[in-house]
Amino acid sequence: MTARILVMPGDGVGPEICREAVRVLEALVNDHGLDIELHEALVGGAAIDAEGDPLPESSLAAAREADAIVFGSIGGPAWDGLERAKRPESGLLRLRSELGLFANLRPAILYPQLAHASALKPEVVSGLDIMIVRELTGGIYFGQPAGHGTDEAGRREAWNTMRYNDAEIERIGRTAFNIARARGGRLCSVDKANVLDVSQLWRDVMNETAVDYPDVELSHMYVDNAAMQLVRAPKQFDTVVTTNLFGDILSDAAAMLTGSIGMLPSASMDANGKGLYEPVHGSAPDIAGQGLANPLAAILSVAMMLRYTLDRSDLADKVEAAVGYALDRGLRTRDIMNQETQVASTQEMGGAIVDMLR
Ligand code: NAD
Repeated sequence: MTARILVMPGDGVGPEICREAVRVLEALVNDHGLDIELHEALVGGAAIDAEGDPLPESSLAAAREADAIVFGSIGGPAWDGLERAKRPESGLLRLRSELGLFANLRPAILYPQLAHASALKPEVVSGLDIMIVRELTGGIYFGQPAGHGTDEAGRREAWNTMRYNDAEIERIGRTAFNIARARGGRLCSVDKANVLDVSQLWRDVMNETAVDYPDVELSHMYVDNAAMQLVRAPKQFDTVVTTNLFGDILSDAAAMLTGSIGMLPSASMDANGKGLYEPVHGSAPDIAGQGLANPLAAILSVAMMLRYTLDRSDLADKVEAAVGYALDRGLRTRDIMNQETQVASTQEMGGAIVDMLR
């Protein structure tokens, strides 16, 4: 059946990098029999300017109908002064919650050709390939009670609650076990079970769920140790699963191991395999419209979509290999260049990937 793909370019560099991602998809349609139809919808600042709403009803309806979404980026100084609910970021948050996208997949991959870009020694990070699976719709960011007030002594206080039920933990656990199974077969669950009751439940449910995945090796690690190990010996990890709060912090730390924000894709998935695929980076207003943006994070997001929603790992492998060849040939956008490499524009980099897919 023809898959319906919605492209939401958004703001800043979003439209430029989405254009290249779409060229890659079109090449796969023309030359490799990928069966998709492409649609486009406004989101973020672009939607505010056109319709006064960062997620207009028509865009939300199109997102609901789609099998997958290729998202660019949103935000920029033009909309920073608006009240929170009217800002571009609210459009993305609402989209994630309306679509029930509870699993955030953040790979941290360091192509060996870019090992110099990391702050760590090349031998520690070269060839790094970790997948962090973060729970996205529960935990302390959403737990009740939450609020602020004044205590009996007149001191200001505030509180949040880290709360998970077993069904929420099992749901993200199953997603992570399935991903680990399709990768290196090892899953590390990160918690703080030595201190937090909610983490003990997390650990218990992960152990119970593991019974259904005898081919996946499950281990547990406390979050403070995980932070240390990520920087000390990151290649020990294959797939990591963790809560919303811990995942927020660890996935950013893992991203920085690679030293190149323009290379990092991500996905947010629902329980049925529908996903929103987007680069980790923002709208980069400082370089927007100049052909300087690295389109590879967006193109690698398309590879994730091929693998996780469209069940076309064969084509995902081709796209990822094409990125490797482009880097081998010395092609670099400005953010990842060094003295021995040629500077490519956004469009030239996208074109090189398309040529290699032919
Ligand atoms: P940013 O990721 O946009 O930019 C950080 C730095 O990385 C900048 O120097 C930028 O030029 C560079 N950079 C980012 N993407 C790049 C690419 N593809 N190629 C080359 N260089 C790249 O983060 P920021 O500057 O903190 O935020 C800018 C805007 O983006 C803000 O409005 C913010 O709210 C928004 N934002 C959106 C998302 C999203 O759409 N999911 C995520 C983060 C930030």
